[in-house]
Amino acid sequence: MTVHFPFQNSYSALPDSFFARVAPTPVAAPRLIKLNRPLALQLGLDPDLLETPEGAAILAGKTVPEGADPIAMAYAGHQFGHFVPQLGDGRAILLGEVIDRDGVRRDIQLKGSGPTPFSRRGDGRAALGPVLREYIVSEAMFALGIPTTRSLAAVFTGEHVIRETALPGAVLTRVAASHIRVGTFQFFAARRDTEAVRRLADHVIVRHYPELRDLERPYHALLAGVVARQAELVARWLLVGFIHGVMNTDNSSISGETIDYGPCAFMDAYNPSQVFSSIDEMGRYAYANQPRIAQWNLTRLAECLLPLFSDEQEKAVAEAQDILGAFSDQFSAAYQAGLRRKVGLFTERDGDEALIQDLLDAMAKNQADFTLTFRKLGDAAVDDSADARAQFMEPAAFDEWAGRWRARIALDSQSATERQAAMHAVNPMFIPRNHRVEAVIQAAANDDNYAPFEELVKVLAKPFDDQPAYAAYADPPLPDQRVLQTFCGT
Ligand code: AMP
Ligand code: MG
Repeated sequence: MTVHFPFQNSYSALPDSFFARVAPTPVAAPRLIKLNRPLALQLGLDPDLLETPEGAAILAGKTVPEGADPIAMAYAGHQFGHFVPQLGDGRAILLGEVIDRDGVRRDIQLKGSGPTPFSRRGDGRAALGPVLREYIVSEAMFALGIPTTRSLAAVFTGEHVIRETALPGAVLTRVAASHIRVGTFQFFAARRDTEAVRRLADHVIVRHYPELRDLERPYHALLAGVVARQAELVARWLLVGFIHGVMNTDNSSISGETIDYGPCAFMDAYNPSQVFSSIDEMGRYAYANQPRIAQWNLTRLAECLLPLFSDEQEKAVAEAQDILGAFSDQFSAAYQAGLRRKVGLFTERDGDEALIQDLLDAMAKNQADFTLTFRKLGDAAVDDSADARAQFMEPAAFDEWAGRWRARIALDSQSATERQAAMHAVNPMFIPRNHRVEAVIQAAANDDNYAPFEELVKVLAKPFDDQPAYAAYADPPLPDQRVLQTFCGT
């Protein structure tokens, strides 16, 4: 039996300027590290066959499966605010698209599969560490219920990649609703190719926003749709303490998924100005800046769409501003509603927002662990406050706040156990903590030991369950385990 991918490619049918046709570069000795079996089934693929050497050869880019139409996608992007007119897939190749069990079209892309015409000086390869990191964090995001690209497989290439030192090489199979980015629109807009922008917008509407197709002003509605999805997405990031790390416009997905897990990280102690990325020296992509940056990126998207709005520039700009103006309210609504759920409020009352802000302020001042404070607050709802207050350097700060919180929750009619259950359903016990991710990567890269990786992936698949056998995975790092910086790993 050969592995069959039911490809139905639509992006490679777009005009030639949208991509470069290029096959993956074969690697020496592919070995499957991890196959995401449930995702394979969801995609209509046979997991048993993907686990054979033939399957591994495909997932490593050594053999191109039948029906694939491998391409590197063209895109541009603002990197840390500076426009680069041509980026493109320099180390990724889109094999094609399949329709999943729910009828959703999904891209299947190999990341680290060799050079493309967009590689510039890069080698088109990926090191094992960043591949494992993306696998772990993207699947953790999925389990947390946050829109994200997925990881179908990680394959060891049997080759080394040269970075500062020689590192083991790997290929990640990434699955996405699409890989169309704000930067994809920018690529054509920068070339003043309005017909291509229109073609791309039409493709995106059919694929991601089909409900807008017959509206009178579909391109306006498209912008509004992307604004809404990004506002919701960034709110959800903040609610779990996620820091993307490189919110460049080329890493900003039109479908509203989290994409490009480079130096991303979850914060341990709550600190709104937290930055982990080694290259983010100015803190442009700090935790609390993320909504502002998302809006900035959306403004870049709007600029690309202006020629589709109206021939009159001023009119088009006014309309775009109007649509972009919705971002703040949409973000705040999603963020505040999420925070209310996190602290166990079932109704909305005056003073709620200030009450919650006071908790966040106290957490920041007391270096309280973001994840555990909210998780343990769920237990405080049934009068077991010990673990929640233990998160605060000065537990009295929690006590003062908790007194006001208890008075407030008493105004809702739900029982304490109902409240605890509702809070535990939104406040995860387990997140991919940096020190855990690092330890897993070290064990794999240095000792060829993948057991810690397997265990971490397993624990993170059920982030809202207590999983007492794995309780240690919930712990914040000890002072000497703290990871202060993360790297792109390109
Ligand atoms: P990223 O950091 O993944 O957002 O990538 C930014 C740009 O650099 C994209 O155009 C990538 O394709 C390109 N790039 C990153 N790493 C490599 C590499 N190893 N070889 C070639 N191009 C790369
Ligand atoms: Mg990128």
